[in-house]
Amino acid sequence: MAESAEAHPFELLCAEAASKRWCWKLVCTTCGALDLRAALWGLASRLSPPKGTRLLGAWPHRIQRELIAQVEAAPLERIVRSAPFPDGLGYLGMVLSIAAEAESVERRLTTAWCPQLAALADLDSDLFAGSMASWPARDGVLRPWDLERVESAMRSLV
Ligand SMILES: [Zn+2]
Repeated sequence: MAESAEAHPFELLCAEAASKRWCWKLVCTTCGALDLRAALWGLASRLSPPKGTRLLGAWPHRIQRELIAQVEAAPLERIVRSAPFPDGLGYLGMVLSIAAEAESVERRLTTAWCPQLAALADLDSDLFAGSMASWPARDGVLRPWDLERVESAMRSLV
């Protein structure tokens, strides 16, 4: 891809999140990670969330699918390595959480991200995919908590 050297829009969003130390906790009773959620909504819809948008609830499927399309080709290694560890994985986890319903059907992030995550954590790609799945039981879909495995594997590499 010719433009791979240029910053990806999701990469820019993550850089802003890192510099402003936005919260990425999926269940945060203090701030709801609303800064990050609002920015992701903006990335997906190219608009700020309309007043009264329930950023904490399930997002409309159309917006979930747009979010997936916007982040699918993001350079995960650059995102994870340029944020304070493990915040980059936290941003990815938020996307997987928000887009979970659409991803369970489309599996586009699962396909695009799993090989990158496995490489990042020096995990065997097939093993990672296999364990992530316990495939049939969990539908073979990449979920936010699969990133905990990546995080602990990356810690052990340091
Ligand atoms: Zn918070």
